[in-house]
Amino acid sequence: MHDDRTLVEARLKRVLEERVRPAVHPESVPLEVAVWTAPGEPVPVAEGLAAASGASAPIAVGDLWGAPWGTSWFTVTGTVPERWAGRTVEAILDLGFDENMPGFQCEGLVYRPDGTPVKGLNPRNQWVRVGAPVEGGEEVRLHVEAASNPVILDYHPFLPTKLGDRETAGTTPQYRLARMDLAVFDEAVWQLVIDLEVLGELMMELPVESARRYELLRAIGRALDAIDLQDVGGTAEAARAELAGVLSAPAVPSAHRISAVGHAHIDSAWLWPLRETVRKVARTASNMTALLRDEPDFVFVMSQAQQWAWIKEHRPEVWAEVTKAVAAGRFVPTGGMWVESDTNMPGSEAMARQFVHGKRFFIDEFGVDNDEVWLPDTFGFAAGLPQIIKAAGSRRLLTQKISWSRTNTFPHHTFLWEGIDGTRIFTHFPPVDTYNCSMSGREIAHAAANFKDKGVARHSLAPTGWGDGGGGTTREMVAKAARLRDLEGSATVTWETPSAFFDKAEAEYPHPPVWAGELYLELHRATLTSQARTKRGNRRSESLLREAELWAATAAVRAGFSYPYAQLDRIWKTVLLHQFHDILPGSSIAWVHREAERTYAAVAEELESIIDAAQRALAGPPSGGVVVFNSAPHTRAAVPAGGAARADGSGASGRTAREDGGHVLDNGLLRVEIDGRGLVVSAFDLAAERETVAPGQTANLLQIHPDFPNMWDAWDVDEFYRNTVTDLVEAEEVAPGDEPGSVRVVRSFGASTVTQVLTLPSGAKRLDIRTEVDWHETEKFLKLAFPLDVHAERYASESQYGHVYRPTHTNTSWEAAKFEACNHRFVHVGEPDWGVALVNDATYGHDVTRTVRAGDSGTTTTVRISLLRAPRFPDPETDQGLHRFHHALVPGATIGDAVREGHFANLPERRVPGDAEVAPLVTLDNDAVVVTAVKLADDESGDVIVRFHESRGARARATLTPNFPISAAIPADLLERPLADPHPGGEPVSLRLRPFELVTLRLVRGR
Ligand SMILES: [Zn+2]
Repeated sequence: MHDDRTLVEARLKRVLEERVRPAVHPESVPLEVAVWTAPGEPVPVAEGLAAASGASAPIAVGDLWGAPWGTSWFTVTGTVPERWAGRTVEAILDLGFDENMPGFQCEGLVYRPDGTPVKGLNPRNQWVRVGAPVEGGEEVRLHVEAASNPVILDYHPFLPTKLGDRETAGTTPQYRLARMDLAVFDEAVWQLVIDLEVLGELMMELPVESARRYELLRAIGRALDAIDLQDVGGTAEAARAELAGVLSAPAVPSAHRISAVGHAHIDSAWLWPLRETVRKVARTASNMTALLRDEPDFVFVMSQAQQWAWIKEHRPEVWAEVTKAVAAGRFVPTGGMWVESDTNMPGSEAMARQFVHGKRFFIDEFGVDNDEVWLPDTFGFAAGLPQIIKAAGSRRLLTQKISWSRTNTFPHHTFLWEGIDGTRIFTHFPPVDTYNCSMSGREIAHAAANFKDKGVARHSLAPTGWGDGGGGTTREMVAKAARLRDLEGSATVTWETPSAFFDKAEAEYPHPPVWAGELYLELHRATLTSQARTKRGNRRSESLLREAELWAATAAVRAGFSYPYAQLDRIWKTVLLHQFHDILPGSSIAWVHREAERTYAAVAEELESIIDAAQRALAGPPSGGVVVFNSAPHTRAAVPAGGAARADGSGASGRTAREDGGHVLDNGLLRVEIDGRGLVVSAFDLAAERETVAPGQTANLLQIHPDFPNMWDAWDVDEFYRNTVTDLVEAEEVAPGDEPGSVRVVRSFGASTVTQVLTLPSGAKRLDIRTEVDWHETEKFLKLAFPLDVHAERYASESQYGHVYRPTHTNTSWEAAKFEACNHRFVHVGEPDWGVALVNDATYGHDVTRTVRAGDSGTTTTVRISLLRAPRFPDPETDQGLHRFHHALVPGATIGDAVREGHFANLPERRVPGDAEVAPLVTLDNDAVVVTAVKLADDESGDVIVRFHESRGARARATLTPNFPISAAIPADLLERPLADPHPGGEPVSLRLRPFELVTLRLVRGR
């Protein structure tokens, strides 16, 4: 037979596009449209409806509307023509959508005149059902709350734009009203479209030599013959009859099995401000409750408790529909975090609280205690996470983001992920490689072909629906999934909840492979540095929350202080929200980061006032004395961890001049030489007789690189940035600082200036470096370099509840790809008997390299801290202005010293007028066991919660002594729920911890 395959394929494409799809709505009449534009920010629904009914002005299709970030209330009215009696009728409301970009543009929410929401309007979801069937003559009146969100990520992506902030976006209308009609909906034609799409797309994925491909080709050819192009509606059923045979052929027994999960990945802020997400979530949730009513097999999931809480607070009408669908098991809370946060940068406690507040919301509202974690889009996963997931009472993880890695292909789709402490979490990466699956033949075939675990496992998950304002799952996707349920040549598709999927995946794969350590994303590495003030705000908030809880709990137990439960709960949720995977990473528009700065300032003010009130309650009446509070987990200058003592005098370190205009600082433990250029040429550990700085090199060296990645400006730094570097060695001033034992260095470069104060405190083997940068560069990367005379195969970076090791070499592509990585409070490099730590109070990005040692054939190790970048997309002014950093070089440091100094740098002591000594609420007798939280229980029982972990990666014994009466010490999970019987033997509590083990104890108050 002659092969006419390509002829039929091309025929299908044209007929579908030009004749069949347009025949879905074969007849239409225009609606009358009027518009009222809200003068500023969005108004409440009732206000918008009232204004839209009263003060609207006429607007016509073709007219421009919508200043950037504006809200327009459209009122559409019309009458269903009598001749349409018995037909299905829809309103088609096209606000000026670009169907090629399902999210990221204008959107609407349709209301009835009484204020009940109907559904969202999105680029691929423009219809509103009016009647099925209609009688004819019905009056139609609908209101649309339309948001003219500007397109930030355009066809030419990553171009700097001022549209990302209402203050700079201007008032030029962004959209042109495209279609506002009443139209007949022809169900048979719509079904024919889906049939042809499913079979046509499947056909294109099958091998050209396969018989099934030709069966589909012939059936499609017959169906096209059956269509009368002048009467598609009248011949659609006949065409469908030609396809029924190939549509009913069942899948082969070995077919891949896809659990489709209705989903809309909605970034809690990104190319829009937080307030817009409140509305995006409402629109999508309205769409989904409407779709659930129409489609009995469909299941939709939504993660991020914060987004649920927004609906509850801001859109009670939508919430009512959502809760009904939840009760029916169809609209399913998934995941168990407050937001889908970054997981690299949140500190130990914050990472834990993401789960506490996320899980608690679902438990309190719906009685749902999920065991899966849902993080499809997060930029890499810290190796502390498995233990946190388990301690929250969960045990499964889903993400697909690692498929975005640019260098290496991850070897598994279903596996056990092992964290630093050994906890293993059953993990699935959907092989469909997207969180916006649309049920296309290409996606389904890709999932099946791509699945790395085939042969031993058969199930994968496909998050299905348009995210970010795309409106979620569409009726077309549901219709396609129905045809793919059991279809020869395709993977099978079933709507399921994530937990139903995980049950099957676990059951079929009892011995999955294991991946140990972090899930490093080989992309978006610059998110550890971009928007430095947002990062500082996060770190500062985490430290202040620790202090506020500690001192409020201590004062509550000791002085009857009123513990601010509700206030702390609210502040925690604010801080957790800002750890969302586009806020803390610095990848949002200017509006988001400008607001975040203000929010962090307000958070700091509130927490400072809690801390101050609690400490004053503990310090006693002012008596001329000063009490020093130590919220760090280690004794500091004789003040116990978590306690307070009367202030002591302190010594000083000496400073002498060098001939070259530099200075020598010496405190008897460390002798630091700063040359006439303000660079550290020596840091000599006097007891160990070891030099810290690599021979012939200089530490505290600022280096600046050009930084213009190929794409994703705020997210990415590409490896070639290192090829060009300028060392900032010219100093304008190298002079004694204000404090004793300190030196001040001032440099200018480009349009920027840096002022550094280097201080050697008395009694500490630590050089403090306080850096203030007035930054006015663009597309540059500023690093602070410390070449260390240490030979090291690997180095440690602090992570949640421990640290992770990474190699200093680049033997394989996996190691080479980690050219920029995350640390929390410290990076540590060491030889077995001597090491160096670099600690910080606000930075996360760093790189570590090795160099041949001058004078011999050994190697040295250079640690470089990433201070600032200046990308121009999505915020064209990223990081411009003033920044402050505190770093410290700690020669001779063990990991234990690094842990301690990291805490000290982030938790400075506080001096309060008073006279009282304050004994810590709990004392631990082993410095390796580090307290991360002391607080009152969230159930307001008055019980004290203490959380601690082994911090050095070794086994530890410790005794915990409560310094207040307790009746029991009960092991608990992160949600403070008892895990086991009370500790036997009462108090003090003796403990044995495995490496990095995390423990939560509930100390029940006795009397
Ligand atoms: Zn995202």
